[in-house]
Amino acid sequence: MRAGIVGAGAAGLAAAHRLQALGHEVTLFEGRGEPGGQVVAFEVGGEPIECFYHHIFTHDRAVVRYFEDLGLGDRLEWIEPHNGHFVNGRIYPFVTPLDLLRFDAVSLPGRLRLGLASLWLKRQADWRVYEHVTARAWMERAVGRRAFAAFWGPLLRGKFAERADEVGMAWLHWKIRLRFASRSGRLGAKETLGYPRGSFHACYVALAERVRADGGRIHLNAPVEAVATELGAVTGIRAGGAFHEFDQVLMTTPNVITKRIAPDLPADYVAILDRVRYQWASCLVLALDRPLSDVYWLSIGDDLPFVACVEHTNLVPADRYGGNHIVYLSNYVAPDHPVLQMDAEQALAAYEEAIRRINPAFDRSWVREKWFFRDPGGQPVITTNYSASVPPLETGVRGLTLANTTQVYPEDRGQNYSLELGERAAGHMDAASRALAAARGARI
Ligand SMILES: Cc1cc2nc3c(=O)[nH]c(=O)nc-3n(C[C@H](O)[C@H](O)[C@H](O)COP(=O)(O)OP(=O)(O)OC[C@H]3O[C@@H](n4cnc5c(N)ncnc54)[C@H](O)[C@@H]3O)c2cc1C
Repeated sequence: MRAGIVGAGAAGLAAAHRLQALGHEVTLFEGRGEPGGQVVAFEVGGEPIECFYHHIFTHDRAVVRYFEDLGLGDRLEWIEPHNGHFVNGRIYPFVTPLDLLRFDAVSLPGRLRLGLASLWLKRQADWRVYEHVTARAWMERAVGRRAFAAFWGPLLRGKFAERADEVGMAWLHWKIRLRFASRSGRLGAKETLGYPRGSFHACYVALAERVRADGGRIHLNAPVEAVATELGAVTGIRAGGAFHEFDQVLMTTPNVITKRIAPDLPADYVAILDRVRYQWASCLVLALDRPLSDVYWLSIGDDLPFVACVEHTNLVPADRYGGNHIVYLSNYVAPDHPVLQMDAEQALAAYEEAIRRINPAFDRSWVREKWFFRDPGGQPVITTNYSASVPPLETGVRGLTLANTTQVYPEDRGQNYSLELGERAAGHMDAASRALAAARGARI
């Protein structure tokens, strides 16, 4: 089979690698000038770092497998981060589950209910029973309104911003189960996160090199203009004004782009794609001459113009980045949000007062450099009854498959699940090509 793949992020590259292992020919088309997709990187102090904060959990086994297979296994480091929660103008540490008991922004009964609800959810294996209810409605009933507003509300806003109230409980239940799995199980156990020397981006650069070494072609700066079809079957890809013929095509693009470049998708499939809304991801990244706090991941409970403050150099040392202390101020916003029109200087002006709420001593003179990054496919909003919004891999056009971050439910969007999804899509394409070959053989 000659397979064309749109997008050279985690899903596209994993699919290419798996298809090659199954004996197929692959050609990738990537709109950007480098592979990696959302794991895009830039340099601070000569060291690559992600434009959007990234870490992995201990259960992200596919990511670890790729690092090992690519000979990069020794780069991964496992660290116990110092996380926190910013509520009522104060940073509360959240390092072990026991910190919940000291979280006096919530009454003691509220804290106990928060703890019991999490322990209960951790033991529930079936996320489907939570599909019909929002995380807010379920949690408010379980822990009370005040405890929800101080604890779960900010965490949900940290991912979904103003759409947080629409998020389904099935998503939160599954997330809680997994986050517990990243601890050793004891109440005093700290969470462990993985981060590689040289950034996650290095993994995708190495994977792209492997795909090329195995005979695959990767066209960079090659946005696909259209996926061509004839009589309900895919025929190829148009990119850079040229037509490339393929037996099958895999798209790894967000739903809106998928619809635009594959105009012949059946109406019922498009209706599924239309159900999912995305929040854009935006990150103002600051390189400071000193630390802002001692916390890696700070969820924001107070009303600040960003939803999380991620101080990367509280996970790995600042000397790796020429002594720069790197802070991501993260937001997930609707496509028409004014912050998306800002440059780094304007975003810093908009955020400056709020940064001072976290550290009153913060001064502009601490900022050595700043960058502002955004991504339109940042975060699909996982609403109630989301199962009905998950598009199947099979698009309804023969030979055209879709694999994107809307399909990893109930898992949370993450590299691990994009890699696994890419592999699954490759398996699906391989089976389709074998079935077609068998049918042709039978006709002959
Ligand atoms: C802010 C943020 C923080 C995150 N944090 C973490 C984290 O801590 N840990 C973790 O594991 N994961 C994290 N993720 C998620 C992780 O990055 C994604 O799950 C994963 O990278 C998605 O891979 P993908 O291949 O599915 O999609 P993408 O990476 O989006 O790949 C799709 C590719 O298609 C390309 N493309 C689009 N249109 C076209 C076109 N017309 N023609 C050709 N190419 C096109 C894009 O340029 C892109 O490269 C984060 C994501 C974001 C946005």
